[in-house]
Amino acid sequence: PTDISGLRWHHRFAMLGAAFHTRLQPTPLPEPYWVARSDATARLLGLDAQWFASDEALEALTGSRPLAGAEPLASVYSGHQFGVWAGQLGDGRAILLGETTDGLEVQLKGAGRTPYSRGGDGRAVLRSSIREFLCSEAMHGLGIPTTRALSLTGSDQRVRRETLETAAVVARVAPSFIRFGHFEHFAASGQDAELRALADYVIERYYPACRSTERFGGNAYAALLEAVSERTAALLAQWQSVGFCHGVMNTDNMSILGLTIDYGPFQFLDGFDPGHICNHSDTSGRYAFNQQPSVAYWNLHALAQALLPLIGDKETAVSALASYKRVFPSEFDRRMRAKLGLDTPPPGTAVAEAEATDRLLIDGVLSLLAAERTDWTIFWRRLSVAVQSGDMAAVTDLFIDRTGIDAWLPAYAARRAAGPAQAAGRMLQVNPKFVLRNHLGQEAIELAQNKDFSGVAILLTLLESPFDDHPGHEAMAGFPPDWASTIEISCSS
Ligand code: AMP
Ligand code: MG
Ligand code: MG
Repeated sequence: PTDISGLRWHHRFAMLGAAFHTRLQPTPLPEPYWVARSDATARLLGLDAQWFASDEALEALTGSRPLAGAEPLASVYSGHQFGVWAGQLGDGRAILLGETTDGLEVQLKGAGRTPYSRGGDGRAVLRSSIREFLCSEAMHGLGIPTTRALSLTGSDQRVRRETLETAAVVARVAPSFIRFGHFEHFAASGQDAELRALADYVIERYYPACRSTERFGGNAYAALLEAVSERTAALLAQWQSVGFCHGVMNTDNMSILGLTIDYGPFQFLDGFDPGHICNHSDTSGRYAFNQQPSVAYWNLHALAQALLPLIGDKETAVSALASYKRVFPSEFDRRMRAKLGLDTPPPGTAVAEAEATDRLLIDGVLSLLAAERTDWTIFWRRLSVAVQSGDMAAVTDLFIDRTGIDAWLPAYAARRAAGPAQAAGRMLQVNPKFVLRNHLGQEAIELAQNKDFSGVAILLTLLESPFDDHPGHEAMAGFPPDWASTIEISCSS
């Protein structure tokens, strides 16, 4: 059915059956108000613009009024948290409304308790919801696969965390919210038929090429594992190249579609500290920035373990996983070469030799940045501008000890001169000017906690096109203030 929102609803995930979910209604929040809306996500859904601005939309997207045609549910999953089997988790505060015409699902995060809430209150606070809303759209602006955010609404209803805060709801959108943990759930409980049904559903809907593969002797489930490994590898290469630290890479926060999902204590690096830990609750540094690629691989092993009854034998599963080790380094190098404005090897050079030269340049610059904790985003942006102007002063100015950069820059210039190099302008299209730094989010949060939502709106505009200049907002592309390093972001949300 279509209602006046312009949405036509389907419920294909629900059709998997009762073992996968519990039907329930969101719990209304009193007197909701708009905090932010993404018109880009609304267009993606084909949402009626007039409806999207209405009070009815405000209430519906907060979960305070039923939406015609929606059939809300919470899904069940399990997972490994911080490397330890955590058993059953599930949508403890996210409620799926259903799927719209173009195969996009809409979920309300923070919409009340579910049978999977365990001790939780089913709510999300305004603070963490602003971070999720903005980062979803920021990642999309950067060209990184992610769940999207449609709207952010708030209520004065109190929510207790370390202090008293207020409740908010993010309406988020993705082709699917299925996680590695959904597979682990049915594997761990020995529900083989459900495990197979889930894998068949994911293959049919999202990985149809796996069905007709000739790889692995036509084993569609091994092909699925390989395809997920490749997408995850490509995602991690993007995270590492943009300086994104997820913070809670538990297997229940890993999307089967290779999307960035579940924005909690994430951080875009300020200074380049490879071992940076962005999650204050992560005392061992399991999810430190430079651990992320190997953690993703560990998580894929957990997925492989879950898929084993379908794949049949360990050797096949292991060879499907091997694609990660191939794709991650090559995608990471490709992204780093693009950041440097280097495309293919110079003419007349053997590929292996050229790649080795480029690897030296990449490793060289990474160790220079790490040695002085140079600002990641500003370095790459300044390099892009400097290559265009030919004046490297703004780049060398970033270093206190200049011997390293003074040696690196001529080697870099020689490599660019050997060609082929990207036009300098293209470097500005891969090295963003604006990222959602912690302190920028924090400033917008503090305004919003006083009912001033202008900071969120400005950040949304900048982050939707982070490669553009946005005159008048130079300060938001500048160095973080000293207090930025004192911000502590934990799992509390
Ligand atoms: P996360 O660490 O945010 O990925 O959450 C892990 C699990 O805890 C998931 O099953 C969430 O649904 C659940 N959860 C987190 N916060 C709450 C809350 N306030 N109320 C209910 N469940 C929650
Ligand atoms: Mg989660
Ligand atoms: Mg979370």
